[in-house]
Amino acid sequence: MSSALISPAPAIDPAMNNGAFDVAVIRAAFPALQQTVNGKPLVYLDNAATTQKPLVVIEAVNQFYRHDNANIHRGVHTLSARATDQYEAAREQVRSSLNAAVVEEIVFVRGVTEAINLVAASFGQRLNAGDEILISALEHHANIVPWHLLRERIGIVLNVIPVTDIGELDLSALPALISPRTQLIAVNHVSNALGTINPVWEICQIAQAHGVPVLVDGAQGLPHGVVDVQSIGCDFYAMSGHKVFGPSGVGALYARRPWLDVLPPYQGGGDMIETVSFDAVRYAPAPAKFEAGTPNIEGAIGLKAALAWHAALDWQAIAAHEAQLLATATTGLRDIPGLRIIGEAANKVPVVSFVIDGTHPHDIGTLLDAQGIAVRTGQHCAMPVLKQLGAVSGTVRASFAFYNTLDDVAALIRAVHRAHALLT
Ligand code: PLP
Repeated sequence: MSSALISPAPAIDPAMNNGAFDVAVIRAAFPALQQTVNGKPLVYLDNAATTQKPLVVIEAVNQFYRHDNANIHRGVHTLSARATDQYEAAREQVRSSLNAAVVEEIVFVRGVTEAINLVAASFGQRLNAGDEILISALEHHANIVPWHLLRERIGIVLNVIPVTDIGELDLSALPALISPRTQLIAVNHVSNALGTINPVWEICQIAQAHGVPVLVDGAQGLPHGVVDVQSIGCDFYAMSGHKVFGPSGVGALYARRPWLDVLPPYQGGGDMIETVSFDAVRYAPAPAKFEAGTPNIEGAIGLKAALAWHAALDWQAIAAHEAQLLATATTGLRDIPGLRIIGEAANKVPVVSFVIDGTHPHDIGTLLDAQGIAVRTGQHCAMPVLKQLGAVSGTVRASFAFYNTLDDVAALIRAVHRAHALLT
């Protein structure tokens, strides 16, 4: 069985791109990509921060506001019933897109950050001082800081799976890091800073052998492929809508059913209860138990449109296309004198993080923007790994999506050459 369900850079077969996957057709679905910025055609290479939205998503949100806007679950009127049906249909779409066993395993949240905070707050109530949480050195701050908060609150111990100098997790160290006090392993599926695809299936296998549950931060997983939580074997999987061509402010936490039944609520309020008196509260069953208050209804509806669209794509052809983008960008950038790529794992999504001797990433980013090229510069919310890999001032990160083209790669390489000539 393959470990990750996001395809890890298969051999490039250019024939796969003939007809099966037409990037021009894909691009046409994204209005924001059809613009000029600073007088140049936009080259959008900041997809790990957020993705652009296809028309189907924009229209789904627009349609909801124009025709169906109402609060959910509590109304007997027609609009409320329509809104509720669409919101619950979105939950079913998330279930299907993650291949969860049952729809009750999907909790809507604001995004991955809230999903991990939910687990830390709720699962955290089962923990005692001295209990251990194991994360990795490759994590985004969203999968570090919530555990720090728990350490400050109850004195848990945070242990870290090391990362090698090319940006891969050192799994040989994992078994020895799991102790009888280890309560949870929390790792990302794909590193946002380096693009490394982590062997989450293997991590789950090792964790299961020790009886330890696993949380996967999937923020960067779905944007690059198909995810199957049952096949991965994780207990929790977190995703964000805006990373996967859907709206901001909505995402989902998958939690295996037994957890949802035993974990306490995360926040209190309306919609998560069955009965309330001044003496006692009876909570609603999951997933409602974890969804206090009015949720991001339009966000969930937009997310449904995004995920349905995503599910209909040819992911084998996309894997070949993304591998070609990564290989071409890596080779072209490496030719630039003094340029060092940070993160050269064997299995990567098309993310290229780099530094150039004698220059600051922000200066390069500003010069690229003048050419209409959007990249992210800085620490990418992953300070520990960038520090370890010697990029203390951060990196320039070009993160591609399947709507990017080889022309985008060429424009990037040209503009970095130019920035290099101006700055050094
Ligand atoms: N984890 C990873 C790997 C990410 O890339 C991000 C966002 O960049 C997050 C977590 C946080 O996601 P969000 O800001 O959508 O909550």
